[in-house]
Amino acid sequence: MTINTADTNHETMTTDFIREKIRDDINTGKYEVVATRFPPEPNGYLHLGHALSICLNFSIAEEFGGTCNLRFDDTNPAKEEIEFIEAIKEDVKWLGFTWEGSPKFASDYFDQLYLWAEHLITAGKAYVDDLTAEEIREYRGTLTEPGKPSPFRDRDVDENLDLFRRMKDGEFAEGQRVLRAKIDLTSGNINLRDPVIYRIIHASHPRTANKWCIYPTYDFAHGQSDAIETISHSLCTLEFADHRPLYNWFIDALPVPAHPNQYEFAKLQMTYTVLSKRRLTRLVAENHVEGWNDPRMATLSGLRRRGVPAAALRDFVQRLSVSKNEGEVEIALLEHCIRENLNIKSERRMAVLNPLKIVIENYSNPGSEWLEATNNPNFPEKGSRLVPFSKEIWIERDDFMEDPPKKFFRLAPGREVRLRYAFFITCTDIIKDTSGKIVEVRCTYDPETRGGNSPDGRKVKGTIHWVSSEHAQDAEIRLFNPLYVCPHPGSENDFIDDINPNSIEILNDCKLEPSISELNNDVAIQFERMGYFFKDETSQPDKLIFNRTISLRDTWQKIKG
Ligand code: ATP
Ligand code: MG
Repeated sequence: MTINTADTNHETMTTDFIREKIRDDINTGKYEVVATRFPPEPNGYLHLGHALSICLNFSIAEEFGGTCNLRFDDTNPAKEEIEFIEAIKEDVKWLGFTWEGSPKFASDYFDQLYLWAEHLITAGKAYVDDLTAEEIREYRGTLTEPGKPSPFRDRDVDENLDLFRRMKDGEFAEGQRVLRAKIDLTSGNINLRDPVIYRIIHASHPRTANKWCIYPTYDFAHGQSDAIETISHSLCTLEFADHRPLYNWFIDALPVPAHPNQYEFAKLQMTYTVLSKRRLTRLVAENHVEGWNDPRMATLSGLRRRGVPAAALRDFVQRLSVSKNEGEVEIALLEHCIRENLNIKSERRMAVLNPLKIVIENYSNPGSEWLEATNNPNFPEKGSRLVPFSKEIWIERDDFMEDPPKKFFRLAPGREVRLRYAFFITCTDIIKDTSGKIVEVRCTYDPETRGGNSPDGRKVKGTIHWVSSEHAQDAEIRLFNPLYVCPHPGSENDFIDDINPNSIEILNDCKLEPSISELNNDVAIQFERMGYFFKDETSQPDKLIFNRTISLRDTWQKIKG
């Protein structure tokens, strides 16, 4: 197992290298107030990796009595959309966190960032370059070869200012000119070899519309946005470690109001899971799934729709060690957290997924009777409900075998089983259609066993669930299998080729006990023996749809073996 778990007691405060650093910074007086931010780029929906970043940033702010901002890194109008902004806000709230004040946007700072770009030009620390993107790449050199200067590197301040203003005024085409910081073409760190800080993009921006046609790059916008918001600890993932010297260079070169510091941690990676917006975007765009919130997606909206509780995700994230080393987490750990949470809180109900009709021949009660069933064995205060019993009931097709092997303890000819919360029944006959398929099973019941025990001490080996036919609510139930057939999708080919063709199974003749209609839509339900379920967002009173969040037990061993 490569599960990356911290063995701390989760009730006590967790610690890791970032929290240690923050404690140090406070003790040495480097920062008095802790301010963090979660900075998504609104070019897709949030996924499980973002949950780690969200929990880390918001929990740290909480633990140290500080604040955490939500800031949209909306510097690329070509890929960003309002839909994503709204979805991200909803996901962060759902995870249980509250950002400081109103949401922030890098685009709120475009005026200031522009002035700082002019400040760099005036200080001789930035220049307009006419090289093409490809030429810039060539001139930049490699890890073993230094870069060489662009022929435009030594333009004077006035010319640079004039050209930069004309870039802003829309005089040039995309790619015709860029603004670059003038740092060090021989630096071992390629990020310092005169990085591009402004580029021309003639696209309407979701928030600033057509006000700008030049946009700051991530590197130029991020640290300065942190400074404007007086962020103390700017947490990001490891791929930005090499950008830290650049982050600091801008902060030192500009008259910014604060000096934030960047710290990096390893991205969350999980088996059988794809966590990259680029790839998730493809799944949606190419219709491999039904949308960003498809319950098979590793997005927060997909997990929510599937019925995964936010508390289970927070618990999962807390068990991961925040680390400087790339590691991989087994999906079984996430599933364990989901089961643990649902086992405690879910309401128990009965549902038959693949129905087989049972007729109880000696049931002479003209109508029905109502039997008491426990709602949640973990919480007696959740009480009980009444479940109707009548002459015709549904049981699970798998709970009956005409010719059972020895170890089969459920219903079979001549066998007696317990109906959960109800009676013992004994199979007396089978009725088949012309194709030989069993369409009905005939039974007798023992009225003395009401409630599930026999007064004569008779024992049965099996207990099965059931639903009264007359009272059943019809429903569609969706079962999910992993979206990928292998633990590392895409490691040897296009990850699309690793998609599981059987990731969804739709059962459209399911029978639910009637009390289902009394439950709120957001209640987690355990259909006894069948798993944990959640009403789908498209469910209607006259067309019920449930998603199976997760099975009762871990099935990974079976899948792997
Ligand atoms: P992706 O690789 O999925 O496109 P990203 O880093 O481009 O992700 P952003 O919207 O820029 O996505 O990320 C917002 C924040 O979430 C950043 O601080 C980023 O480092 C963090 N983040 C993104 N993916 C992960 C992950 N897998 N694990 C932990 N944090 C992540
Ligand atoms: Mg990104």
